[in-house]
Amino acid sequence: MHEARLFVGGKWVDGESQTTVADKFSGEPVGLVHNASREQVALATRGVAQTQAGRPTVPHDRFLVLARASELLRERTPEFVQIMVSDAGFTVQDAQREVERTVQTLLISGEEAKRIHGEVVPMHGAPGWNGRLGFTTRHPLGVVAAVTPFNSPLNTVAHKVGPALAAGNGVVLKPASLTPVTAEHLVRLLLDAGLDPGLIALVHGAGSTVGQWLLEDPIPAFYAFTGSTEVGEHLHRTVGLRKTQLELGSISSTLVCADAAVEKTAALCVNAAFRKAGQVCTSVQRLYVHELVLADFVDALRDELSTRKVGDPADPQTFVGPVISVGNADRIADWIERARAGGAKIVAGGNRDRQVIEPTVLVDVTPDMEVMCQEVFGPIVSVRPFQDLDATINEVNGTPYGLSAGIFTADVNRALTAAERIRVGSVHINETSSSRIDLMPYGGVKLSGMGKEGPRYAIEEMTEERLITLGRQ
Ligand code: NDP
Repeated sequence: MHEARLFVGGKWVDGESQTTVADKFSGEPVGLVHNASREQVALATRGVAQTQAGRPTVPHDRFLVLARASELLRERTPEFVQIMVSDAGFTVQDAQREVERTVQTLLISGEEAKRIHGEVVPMHGAPGWNGRLGFTTRHPLGVVAAVTPFNSPLNTVAHKVGPALAAGNGVVLKPASLTPVTAEHLVRLLLDAGLDPGLIALVHGAGSTVGQWLLEDPIPAFYAFTGSTEVGEHLHRTVGLRKTQLELGSISSTLVCADAAVEKTAALCVNAAFRKAGQVCTSVQRLYVHELVLADFVDALRDELSTRKVGDPADPQTFVGPVISVGNADRIADWIERARAGGAKIVAGGNRDRQVIEPTVLVDVTPDMEVMCQEVFGPIVSVRPFQDLDATINEVNGTPYGLSAGIFTADVNRALTAAERIRVGSVHINETSSSRIDLMPYGGVKLSGMGKEGPRYAIEEMTEERLITLGRQ
């Protein structure tokens, strides 16, 4: 059995108690995770703060460490894939993609370390100030606390840790308690790549204890959080005036207009709705399809799904594996059943075997059903016909969230109108709401959060700007 220990004060140490980690498909115990005590959380933040202040790093060395980490991860891909299949229940395909993206995230973070710069301020623009120079510089904040979710246990962690280190900060990481093993391996990888052991700490344990102690700790200057809106709001209130980056919940929509390429679009939507068993914040949850192509589109979704395998995530052919917990599987199955009882029709999927929910396509849904008005975070897509684009955009905007949206159309005017009017952090034209590469600015509006991920943008958030002015005596 694998033991996920804590990394505190530059050493691997035992916690005050241990919890069993289960394989997400078989349910068998596969590991033990050590839970940190309150004192260990305090030691972790203090230790990282002392190293960060006492042994400052220089940008090119940070680049070298992160580039080496990226290369090591590429070499260790099979090991990381295997860990995530068990730790998160990801299929081999999903785990492989997450490792490939993390290789990029670490490398881009390293590259951005070399490009941290300020700007020249035109002081001469003010009357009487000719001859005085002004420029800004960017400085690390100190300690970044990273609190991360279960559904991207490697890449989301890298999106916090990579930019934080690239910016010259130290990091205390509290990963999701459902996926501790992946985070532990990432910390080992960074140390193998040459990271100063004093610059990182890893504390495992429940959000309500270890997470909460980290929020109450006075040392972190920045909280990088991805997770639910509920916990994000709580974090924001608790940490007071300290800076945060909050990547929160979503109900993401994608629109398919009458002039979209039906089969190609359906294949993209199937991937975007069901990868990671739908446990992706930008997953296509609501699919608005123009009524002229509705029947063909639903057939294409069904055809596409009929070729996909469901079940054991360790089988390289499997497309949809288990969701993260029995509790989540119960909730999702319940929402399918309640939608069906309320008049929705199941045109694909709908069945469940333990934690595996078949990829499910619902039609005849109404806006008040849970599958439409709450975040599903599971393998369900609800299809709604539309006629009038304006009314549909209003419906898309009618949730408290605003993370991402997609629209498929050959009409550039229609696409631009939609992009201007849909209030989200990103709109993808001829792509789904779930389109993402790791260098782009990524984040939501409304209750989907604030602040941006993407190494260049995160580094801006994780540094502070200083203005320096200079003139002759
Ligand atoms: P949670 O909000 O439940 O947990 C996220 C992290 O916060 C976990 O590490 C959790 O610990 C911790 N936590 C919980 N309570 C506290 C607390 N009181 N103080 C400090 N930390 C705490 O999210 P999930 O892990 O369930 O992830 C799913 C959610 O994440 C979905 O809503 C999804 O939309 C969102 N998400 C958003 C993304 C985005 O980019 N906008 C991307 C990915 C996911 P523990 O695990 O121990 O409970």
